[in-house]
Amino acid sequence: MAARKSNPRPPTTNAPPAPPLRFGEIRGHDEPIAFLRRAWKGGRLAHAYFFTGPAGIGKLATARALALGTHCIDAPFEACGRCESCRTIAVGTHADVRVVLGPLKDKRDISIEQVRSFQRELGFRSLSDHPKVGIINDAHLLTNQAQNALLKMLEEPSGDSLLILVGVNAATLTPTILSRCQRVRFGPIPSDDVAAILEAHGHKRAEATALAAYADGSPGRALTLDREFFTTGRPAILQRLASLRGAGFKQLADVAQELATGDQELGLVMAVIASWYRDGLRRQLLGADEPIQNADLADALPSIDVDSSLRNLETTYATMIALRQNANRNLALTKLLLTLAR
Ligand SMILES: [Zn+2]
Repeated sequence: MAARKSNPRPPTTNAPPAPPLRFGEIRGHDEPIAFLRRAWKGGRLAHAYFFTGPAGIGKLATARALALGTHCIDAPFEACGRCESCRTIAVGTHADVRVVLGPLKDKRDISIEQVRSFQRELGFRSLSDHPKVGIINDAHLLTNQAQNALLKMLEEPSGDSLLILVGVNAATLTPTILSRCQRVRFGPIPSDDVAAILEAHGHKRAEATALAAYADGSPGRALTLDREFFTTGRPAILQRLASLRGAGFKQLADVAQELATGDQELGLVMAVIASWYRDGLRRQLLGADEPIQNADLADALPSIDVDSSLRNLETTYATMIALRQNANRNLALTKLLLTLAR
């Protein structure tokens, strides 16, 4: 085995991957932003915040917008995006702003070394009239040791520092840390906003709308979804399902085999099938204006009674559970299709 070279230490804080957004460019979080704006205007910004909510919805974007806003020279709080502060924060070279984006490459946790280095870099007095801003993303991945190291910083706020922890939940954070951070909750954002964000990332409108419907209000999640599958694979599966009404066993078993051995991740296929019957039920029970996940295919929704929709949905969920518990794929899917084809 080749001797391992001793690499120079990777940096503990990385330049953020994309330029930060300004508050006016963030969608779906008017409430938390209004809350921060009120605190800032009243000179009541806390020394430490915990921004919490589902992954990929814009918590880090809001934290970075706050870093811009507290430093911008030309448009305090809202940020201009052009002044020297805005520009240096955007490229990660501003002396008073540090961001830990998460664990180092190939690591699962944010280590005490990362936190110490972050603190060293932030530890001196601000070079300007503005606070030093430290952001720790994925704070739920801080090790206990790393949290203890942070505690000192939280217990002795220097008066000109702002620490923002960003994480999906509080379960792994110690009560001591939590008691010193003001919690700001972020929720999933409306799927129209998710779609608009996807369009800004270059998706076509129809594709953006289809992906957004499966994103659980998280643009970050939407951006990781398989575009090809949602625009072509999903309609193909649902059309296939519709064509199976009254089909014989042989045909059902063949389709089951196709699904079981196809390229597409079966969990995703099952999520689409479940969404189909959920959509049908929603329209049946709540009316034709009810928003549904497969709005682009609404005309093809199965015309079956509520009892059948419920039975199909229940069987789909039961099959999802069975598959997760390693049931035989062919068998489980054949059984499912036998029910759906009734
Ligand atoms: Zn500016």
